[in-house]
Amino acid sequence: MSELTLMVQVDGQIRPLADCTWITWAPCGCPCGALTAAFGDEAFATEEQAWREHYPLKRERDKYQRQGYRMELMSWDRYRAEVDLAARCPHVKAKEAAR
Ligand SMILES: [Zn+2]
Repeated sequence: MSELTLMVQVDGQIRPLADCTWITWAPCGCPCGALTAAFGDEAFATEEQAWREHYPLKRERDKYQRQGYRMELMSWDRYRAEVDLAARCPHVKAKEAAR
């Protein structure tokens, strides 16, 4: 059986979905998670599918979306160039100090 290749448009280019990743952005603007968009038999082609994979329960999705979390599909190239998940979010500390 040949592998199904889903193509998506990201960063202004048409790419295989397998070359992409979903990034979760925290409300403060920092990246806080990544989900490979396609691997093996799994494929998350839409933002809704990515949300469901991260948070199977609707009330969880609603909660995070209400808090301002969002997901963005981007190419691995752009991910490597722009996103550093190992970097500590500098905002949490500032927010706690303001309490
Ligand atoms: Zn932050």
